[in-house]
Amino acid sequence: MSEMKISCMNCAVTACQKADKEKYPPFCPTKNMDEKLHNAVLEKYNDEENRKIACVSASVEGDYYCQLTRAEEILVFAKRMGYKKIGIANCVGLINEARIFAKMAEKNGFDVVMVSCKIDAVEKSVIGVEDAQKLNKGCGHESMCNPVMQAEFLNSHNTELNVIVGLCVGHDSLFIKHSNAIITNLVTKDRVLAHNPAAALYNSTSYYKRLLEGNVPD
Ligand code: SF4
Repeated sequence: MSEMKISCMNCAVTACQKADKEKYPPFCPTKNMDEKLHNAVLEKYNDEENRKIACVSASVEGDYYCQLTRAEEILVFAKRMGYKKIGIANCVGLINEARIFAKMAEKNGFDVVMVSCKIDAVEKSVIGVEDAQKLNKGCGHESMCNPVMQAEFLNSHNTELNVIVGLCVGHDSLFIKHSNAIITNLVTKDRVLAHNPAAALYNSTSYYKRLLEGNVPD
């Protein structure tokens, strides 16, 4: 018999929400938790910053559940963390939306540094992107998204919380990898679904059933 896959994927009870031990399914990661891992993870919450982030986040959820928009929640979180300077790393295609959030943050007393993805205007070919992979083929200069520069620029301004506004898949990963400050998302880019990627999942039994057919292109 093949080894049982320990995963939440097939859970119908989510009994971990109330630690309802009798109901954990056999494949449950909580039921099968390694004690050393449990203790090592709890130890990480003894780190002052980790504990503060976790508790402040829980307090925002607890105090304003279903009352505040994500944009407002980010600022409440930042206030309660005691941050003064917020960085915004935006897609140039969402510069207007990023600006609105920047104004909102300034109105609430924060110092804001905002930086768009095309900062430093480096040609895509410099990092090996071929003309055939560009958006506008054969049209000369096309600036690359430069998430490493976005991160280093915000690092040089000592921002305390960096907010992602619509960075591309993968570019966001590089930004996250290089940012000194902790990061949260305001907008997750989905060019097809008006930046609501969950819509495809909500409709995966109807309009977007191709999602479950295993045919994602190369
Ligand atoms: S941890 Fe266990 S109870 Fe919780 S969702 Fe996963 S399988 Fe279900």
